[in-house]
Amino acid sequence: MVAQSKIEAYIKREPLLADVILKKPVIWLNAQRKIMAKMPDCGLSMQNIEAVESLWARFSPFLKETFTELASVEGKISSPLKRTDSMKDWLSKKDIKIDGQLYVKCDSDLAVAGSIKARGGFYEVLHYAEKLALNAGILQEGDDYRKFSDAAFKRFFSQYKIGVGSTGNLGMSIGIMSARLGFEAHVYVSNDAKQWKKDLLRKEGAIVKEYSGDFSEAILAGRKETLADPKGYFVDDENSKELFIGYSLGAKELQKDLQEQGVIVDEAHPLFVYSPCGVGGSSGGIAFGLREIFGDAVHCFFVEPTHAPAVLIGLATGEMSHICVQDLGIDNKTEADGLAVGRASNFATQISANTISGIYTIEDNELFELLSALWDCEKIFLEPSATAGLIGAQMVEKSGYPQKYGLNMQQATHVAWATGGSLVPQTDRNLFYNRGKKLLTEKH
Ligand SMILES: *Cc1c(COP(=O)(O)O)cnc(C)c1O
Repeated sequence: MVAQSKIEAYIKREPLLADVILKKPVIWLNAQRKIMAKMPDCGLSMQNIEAVESLWARFSPFLKETFTELASVEGKISSPLKRTDSMKDWLSKKDIKIDGQLYVKCDSDLAVAGSIKARGGFYEVLHYAEKLALNAGILQEGDDYRKFSDAAFKRFFSQYKIGVGSTGNLGMSIGIMSARLGFEAHVYVSNDAKQWKKDLLRKEGAIVKEYSGDFSEAILAGRKETLADPKGYFVDDENSKELFIGYSLGAKELQKDLQEQGVIVDEAHPLFVYSPCGVGGSSGGIAFGLREIFGDAVHCFFVEPTHAPAVLIGLATGEMSHICVQDLGIDNKTEADGLAVGRASNFATQISANTISGIYTIEDNELFELLSALWDCEKIFLEPSATAGLIGAQMVEKSGYPQKYGLNMQQATHVAWATGGSLVPQTDRNLFYNRGKKLLTEKH
């Protein structure tokens, strides 16, 4: 922990931190959010997002051939946007009424990885594979990327090692895609990683290395071991530019979804997007992309567990990635796997400091309640982390943000980004659902 005097100085700078330290649910509004006219250059632009899109297009013939579930969708990995009126009614009955429409962006249905990591994680691996193949001269511009299935390509990639430290979805996405391409895929996990995830990874051909200590030890060991190998490449969740930009394409997909469903977004029709946030890479990449596309008409909020508000403390103290939740005596203990993160991504948080409107926190119990309610109302199953955005509309309304910016909430569109869930086995699904159901009945 940092010294008490320092904590007091942080609280003086941002009084809300007192409640954050007590692990109370809060909403923090970002006074540093920039309007587009004043947005500093972060070195990335729409061109980078379009480059991600082109890479996916080049790889789609290979993906279509390699993953049976992608055969019917032309090798394209995308997710549905669903309007969820029953869930909106349920939420409105439970708490304050939601103005505007509520949608869920179902990245839980993303093929192969079953989570938002299919966007960033797959992109980072494909980008690296393409670079290696081009540099080695075995791939030329304009080639048919089905070449990546050739035995010669697999042999070529088998000299290289890709490492990642993750107990959850990131490890799954990197492990699966790396192994399919023929890389030696090493996934470093702590020993509390779920058995079904380890089994699935091993079945795909990845090497799962378990560490007995804290999860951060697994990452440290993984980074060290991978980088000690001259042909090793470590996917670094705490600082990856490639993950970030890979995720950002999700913003373009949402733009297309909204257009197809006839949803208008402009200053008079504000768009609110609520993203569950771990290190802030997926949520940050999507917020960056959305601001590039919709400018000041989009308002992006992150959601973190009350026990793991890594990005919130990074931004509110101004320490960015130089502070972790444990420094403030917060334990980082949450059952929201994807969000159990103590320290913000350095790369992503520098950018999010300017793009996002705010961050709210949520308690674990509420995640389970939302999980059960969403299943009952919409027959959409999510993992606990992924439900966090569902109360965004109500949190924002209560914060006074719409009044402050004079926003017409009757014409608002709320999108809860549902970040994962389709790979969760049935037994775990039942446990999660029953837990939420029990909590809800106890309340009434
Ligand atoms: C990884 C993940 C997140 C958060 O992504 P970050 O890049 O860590 O912010 C949210 N939900 C789920 C289900 C995830 O797997």
